[in-house]
Amino acid sequence: EPHLGPRGANYSPLSPVDFLDRAVSVFPNRQAVIWRDRRFTYGQFGAIVQRMADLLEARGIGSGDVVSIMCPNRPEMLAAHYAVPLLGATLNSVNTRLDESTVSYILEHSESRLLICDETCEGISSASARNANVPLLVLPDEPTHEGEKLFLLDGPTPPVRPFKARIEDEWHPIALNYTSGTTGKPKGVVLHHRGAYLNGIGNTLALGFDKQTVYLWTLPMFHCNGWCHTWAITAAGGTHVCLEKVDPELIFELIGKHGVTHMSCAPVVLYMLINHPARSSYQPTNRVSVATGGAAPTRTLIAEMDALGFDFIHLYGLTESYGPSSMRELEASETALPLEDRASLLAQQGSRHPTSNIVRVVDKNLEDVPFDGETIGEIVLQGNTLLAGYYRDPEATETVFEGGVFHTGDLAVRHHPDGHVEIKDRSKDIIISGGENISSLEVEGVLHQHPAVLLAAVVALPDSKWGEIPCAVLELKPGASTTPEELEAFCRSKIAGFKIPRRFIFQELPKTATGKIQKFMLREELSGKASG
Ligand code: ADP
Repeated sequence: EPHLGPRGANYSPLSPVDFLDRAVSVFPNRQAVIWRDRRFTYGQFGAIVQRMADLLEARGIGSGDVVSIMCPNRPEMLAAHYAVPLLGATLNSVNTRLDESTVSYILEHSESRLLICDETCEGISSASARNANVPLLVLPDEPTHEGEKLFLLDGPTPPVRPFKARIEDEWHPIALNYTSGTTGKPKGVVLHHRGAYLNGIGNTLALGFDKQTVYLWTLPMFHCNGWCHTWAITAAGGTHVCLEKVDPELIFELIGKHGVTHMSCAPVVLYMLINHPARSSYQPTNRVSVATGGAAPTRTLIAEMDALGFDFIHLYGLTESYGPSSMRELEASETALPLEDRASLLAQQGSRHPTSNIVRVVDKNLEDVPFDGETIGEIVLQGNTLLAGYYRDPEATETVFEGGVFHTGDLAVRHHPDGHVEIKDRSKDIIISGGENISSLEVEGVLHQHPAVLLAAVVALPDSKWGEIPCAVLELKPGASTTPEELEAFCRSKIAGFKIPRRFIFQELPKTATGKIQKFMLREELSGKASG
């Protein structure tokens, strides 16, 4: 008989709030947060969290309440990731780029008890809060007479109490995130303490965060809780450098100034970096690890980032999987390969992340596809880091978990022999022309190699002969020009004839608030134009 200790007495629900508890008690003098010209130790950051929790509690917030926040990356936004869950309440981070009607919808649908915003988001926040009849709390930039109590960054240090989340079990909701709506109306993804704790640790292992880590917040914290890095960096005892706005010049400057070691962002931010004139004067003293995901990075982008002094890690995941659930980085044996080959490998979505249990690619009967690099199936996920469900939407929850696995809606192949996953398309975006599958991502990858192209989206247009035909919509780089004929010839040298777009349209692309291209809008626009 093995000697089993008193398990029950040692059970404590997993919660990422515990990472802060350790930071404050074990290394209170370590640098936690840098924001503008201010610096806060973990001890000081703990005080900010406590002040926020006290303020919320005084306003009647408690277990099960939803607290919404609309705020760029600043210390209070990070603090909300601890103060709200500490009370057993749910943090609903609202994308700061959304319009009034969407924010009003989210506030109403989430049954928010309170909306917190800062001065930069006050306009939309106050209008939406009024529409949804939700009290508003505006965080001031500086202490003012009226705002004194709301200015959380300085003030008397509240009595030190342990940061233990007031939850009975680890499946308690921690966050609500409305998806950005690439495929339609926003849905409220409910995440729990357990998953957030696990993915926080998973990110720390996957990206190598430690106490030397200086993490630049190029990713909005409102996007899926910053892929759980809001909790991961604290778990590792690293430093959060808050960046309120994506500004390439400032990003290059802060990397040097603070000795940034890590950052993450969607590929669209990296396009801004490589296409900005400030890149020519960027002289890094160390290579910065950049993790990208949220949309497929092209090989061209990966190669350019490498040349600029960034080590590239590719992450794949969804809001529903707490951000990263698979990753591709280079193995030691691959680092000496020519840049082009390395970029091809890094463009794959890879294999499971340390704390995601199962990443599979399956056919319609939920059987795994062979590792042949050719057979396309749907990526399904299983494990501890999946949503609890969609808020007030049991039907959507049931559909997405059909057959007991989480359906991502992403279509992919698995490579031979390592089984790494490579996404070919979203199920809604794949183009079927004359019975042949065309991966819109593959064609976009080719178009991105053309020097005049800034952004490319390839979508299906209905066609009486072929069923569907590929159509490319392009944004060109400032001052650059090209023609459909030139692009066609360019594609002909690189991909099969049936994959070459039949139409090339030059216009601005519709994007979500996080900068992802909305192909469903594009298809609607184009079919409207075609019939009208
Ligand atoms: P939304 O559906 O609102 O875009 P998410 O931000 O959760 O919500 O996006 C998840 C989707 O983004 C995935 O299902 C996938 O289609 C796409 N995605 C995320 N990471 C990658 C990646 N590394 N490569 C390709 N596609 C990705």
